[in-house]
Amino acid sequence: MSEKVDVVIVGAGLAGLGAAYHLAEAGLEVLVVERGDYPGSKNVTGGRLYLNPVRPYFPDLLGDERIGEVPFEGRVVKERLTMVAEDASTTVEFQSSRMGEGPMHSATLLRGVFDRWLGDVVSERGAMIVPGYKVDDLVWNEGKVAGILSAGDEVLADVVLAADGALSFIAERAVLRHRLEPKHFAMGIKELIELPPDRVQERFGVQPGQSASHLFFGSLTQGMLGGGFLYTNRESVSLGLVLGMGAMLDKGDVFQAHELMDAFKARPEIQPLIAGGRVVEYSAHAIPESSVNDMPRLVCDGMLLAGDAAGLGLNMGITVRGMDFALASGAIAAKSILEAREDGDFSAQSLARYEVALRDSFVLRDHRTFAAMPSFLENPRLYTLYPEWVSGLLGDVFWIGKSPKESLWRTIWNRVRRLPWISALRDALKVRRL
Ligand SMILES: Cc1cc2nc3c(=O)[nH]c(=O)nc-3n(C[C@H](O)[C@H](O)[C@H](O)COP(=O)(O)OP(=O)(O)OC[C@H]3O[C@@H](n4cnc5c(N)ncnc54)[C@H](O)[C@@H]3O)c2cc1C
Repeated sequence: MSEKVDVVIVGAGLAGLGAAYHLAEAGLEVLVVERGDYPGSKNVTGGRLYLNPVRPYFPDLLGDERIGEVPFEGRVVKERLTMVAEDASTTVEFQSSRMGEGPMHSATLLRGVFDRWLGDVVSERGAMIVPGYKVDDLVWNEGKVAGILSAGDEVLADVVLAADGALSFIAERAVLRHRLEPKHFAMGIKELIELPPDRVQERFGVQPGQSASHLFFGSLTQGMLGGGFLYTNRESVSLGLVLGMGAMLDKGDVFQAHELMDAFKARPEIQPLIAGGRVVEYSAHAIPESSVNDMPRLVCDGMLLAGDAAGLGLNMGITVRGMDFALASGAIAAKSILEAREDGDFSAQSLARYEVALRDSFVLRDHRTFAAMPSFLENPRLYTLYPEWVSGLLGDVFWIGKSPKESLWRTIWNRVRRLPWISALRDALKVRRL
């Protein structure tokens, strides 16, 4: 005998829970199947969530009244960006009262804590979350998705929402997307390093309840697309690297991601910040990084894709985003499902309203705006030539040697004329498309 519910959601990540939150509120019978032991147990993020774009989709949850109940690690009030050369680095730090006042702009979080809490909220609203079960396949009826198969049991549903993350097996089964190439993904590796709260505050210059974000790019990725991140939490820091998978594979067998991570941790910009800390968690996870032009189809008869399963990760160069897109796409998918239900029609044609709504929202608008970013970031000069050049220039400016010092203008000009101008101009022209 098969069970039947209104909606089955595959994956209790942010996209799946974001959708379940709204569907359960509307009174639908919702089953969320999660392969991990609890929501968030298998999920990895850097971890900063941008709140302004998602707040309108979750006003009850993320509005001023309840924001204090959300288990964030801290409100981000400080941004640092470091350009890393082989033996030098240049850091820009940004602080503004705007980030510390009013509705929260962005917050750091730990997925094991945040997703679990959101799972509880969603369960209280009436959705049924079933952890510890992997969805093995889809059930089809007359060419339409009609449910899921897990541990030999069939669960039928009017509609299935695939929110099973970057490597969505469900999207492939429904032929909504073809096997993607390595260049369409990045690999994120992360260590959670425990430190006493007062040490976090002292080292990063933040108050209790506040967090700092620190991003890195340059020689740390050995010319490969990618960069490093460090986010502070209450009593830990999240430290990691994001590396283009295509670039990693091009390096061949000689390349070991953990060696790169060790070298990153040993750098003088990082080592003092984590000294005395204890690694309590190590994780690695894929991130979709294809441009909007390579995204899968988002609906078929009886099914929709949301979050990373829909390819909604975005590397904007200065930050990696995916959690806000996952939450919002889940909410938008839920609204589309409710509308389709009113029409009693879950065909691809009816569910196409989801694609339209997503296109009109910040989700696909931001992806379209930054469509040229993935190919721009493949340029190795961003990780080699320019960080070395900037460090060299600043090194010359700040250095006082034995000989009389040259004028500032000559010091700068000596560096400027050593730039490979044709490549630099070509790169500068590409910046206009970002
Ligand atoms: C190292 C790293 C750093 C990042 N930094 C940031 C950041 O700072 N800010 C940001 O916004 N984004 C960041 N991202 C991206 C962000 O984490 C993702 O975009 C986001 O997690 C996507 O959410 P999701 O719900 O779509 O997928 P996921 O969070 O991956 O959730 C998918 C869920 O589906 C479950 N699942 C998978 N297959 C099955 C199956 N067959 N059956 C049942 N369950 C299944 C999984 O266990 C999981 O719980 C980062 C990602 C990484 C890896």
